[in-house]
Amino acid sequence: MRRKISCILCPMGCELEVEVQKGKVILVEGNLCERGIKYAKEEVENPTRCISTSIPIQEGGKCETVSVKTSNPIPKDKIFDVMNEIKKVELKAPIKSGDIIIKNVLNLNVDIVATRSVEREI
Ligand code: SF4
Repeated sequence: MRRKISCILCPMGCELEVEVQKGKVILVEGNLCERGIKYAKEEVENPTRCISTSIPIQEGGKCETVSVKTSNPIPKDKIFDVMNEIKKVELKAPIKSGDIIIKNVLNLNVDIVATRSVEREI
């Protein structure tokens, strides 16, 4: 099976033609450098993404939500499961940027981390 993938590692944006057999990349064409081969393999064999979202603050915050992100990319097929875990969280202010909101979410060795601070309402 042949797939087309745009390499997003640099502004050249090479259109990669990737030959895939049994879920494994066996040939990459259209890449102007070696990084495109690695990118194609990761994108086909183990695609990952970072998640950024926000969580409502239930109590005491100057803002109604706090923004969070994954500390590292997670497997693409786990995005919905991780989002469901994030939805379960109930937060109280204050929250500091960098606070770990969920440690080792779903045992993926990735934390959900606050990306901004929210002070407590006085
Ligand atoms: S293959 Fe290399 S040159 Fe092409 S977009 Fe990817 S990193 Fe850039």
